[in-house]
Amino acid sequence: MTAAIEAAEAGCEVVLVEKSAYLGGRVARFHQYFPKLCPPACGVEINLKRLKNNRQVTILTQAELESLSGGPGDYEAVIKLAPRYVTDACTLCDECVKGCPADVADEFNYNLSKTKAIHLPHAMAYPAKYVVERSACPEACHACVDACAYRAIDLTQKAEKKTLRVASVIVATGWAPYDASKIENLGFGRCSNVVTNVMVERFAAANGPTGGKILRPSDGKEPRSVAFVQCAGSRDQNHLPYCSAVCCSASLKHATYIRKLYPEAEITIFYIDLRTPGNLQNFYTKVTAENKIELIKGKVGKVEEDPATKEVVVTAEDVLHETKIKRNYDLVVLATGMVPQTAGLPAVVDLDEFGFVNNVNTHVNTGVYGTGCVKRPAEVSGTIRDATGAALKALQITVGAEHLGVEQHG
Ligand SMILES: Cc1cc2nc3c(=O)[nH]c(=O)nc-3n(C[C@H](O)[C@H](O)[C@H](O)COP(=O)(O)OP(=O)(O)OC[C@H]3O[C@@H](n4cnc5c(N)ncnc54)[C@H](O)[C@@H]3O)c2cc1C
Repeated sequence: MTAAIEAAEAGCEVVLVEKSAYLGGRVARFHQYFPKLCPPACGVEINLKRLKNNRQVTILTQAELESLSGGPGDYEAVIKLAPRYVTDACTLCDECVKGCPADVADEFNYNLSKTKAIHLPHAMAYPAKYVVERSACPEACHACVDACAYRAIDLTQKAEKKTLRVASVIVATGWAPYDASKIENLGFGRCSNVVTNVMVERFAAANGPTGGKILRPSDGKEPRSVAFVQCAGSRDQNHLPYCSAVCCSASLKHATYIRKLYPEAEITIFYIDLRTPGNLQNFYTKVTAENKIELIKGKVGKVEEDPATKEVVVTAEDVLHETKIKRNYDLVVLATGMVPQTAGLPAVVDLDEFGFVNNVNTHVNTGVYGTGCVKRPAEVSGTIRDATGAALKALQITVGAEHLGVEQHG
């Protein structure tokens, strides 16, 4: 979003191609974001306002790059667009949702709750438009169509393609959380009260699956003790060999969520090294000074479930005291890292040894630039700075290619 708006405000015509049904990326799913611990809507809204007010930007949602041919200054990009099945006649009256008989896992909530096959992706979604998950619709069901007084639902819509001629491409496809079930010793999927950091964001959010409460999934009780396991799968040759840069700051943030909800809860963070890059040292100092948090330097070796109490039994080393620890917790949070999202990117995009987009080692200027977490893990302010830089690079290719503009075909 930042790269798009920066390029547009500098005078370029920009097409923003977003795979999901709404803008905002992973940040839209946070409860709060560090360092200020403000709601994500603050930052996202500012960018949305700039985007909405700028006629130079065309926003395509449910859209992906299918192919890219040509070269710097003159690329042909074919975009495929999935049907939304809801037209601009929609007034958001919600009658379609009330009439829909089919439940579907709510992807916005990391599948922790259900929504209807026709749904608004989330309350603050932009574009503010319903979307239909057709694979979940019962055969021949037209309940939403019948419920809509504005004839805004068209279940016959088909996928479309658009061909764009562009000078430059910015790849900002971001990250996905590492699959915690692959880290066998840490108990995710095996122990009911082991969750991940991205799940905590949704539990803490008022519009999340538990209405803002962080509870033990096994029985819905308030946790009296919570442990955070840092580097869950990160800096580990068997999983993600790299550091994801934000997980320590994210767990410190999550500790503030717990402390606010449960002033008496015991909070422990097991870490290898507490790293807070991105000028977040002050955040670390403030959070640890204001919230009673026990920091234990040591790798967690084993996470098991006590079958009687459903408590989570954590076995870890305590490096500084040269001992081994075995402790029970009500809830364990795995601080999993970021996996760059590069599937389907054109061959011209160079990837580094860890699978991130590599701008540095490209010998020729391709006019295709990675930015944000698909390039390297970073906090929001770092990705915003990086996106402005990517826009500048793209502008330099665009100058001299003014003849192109954007040709769109249905
Ligand atoms: C647990 C956790 C908590 C965090 N908390 C904070 C915090 O409090 N403060 C902070 O500053 N940072 C935080 N971060 C870091 C923050 O999430 C990132 O800095 C931010 O998401 C990076 O934005 P991005 O645009 O690079 O990627 P993303 O947010 O992943 O956005 C990428 C966008 O690209 C879209 N996309 C993906 N693939 C395609 C495709 N093929 N075609 C078209 N579109 C596609 C996605 O749908 C998405 O909209 C946290 C990270 C984690 C793991």
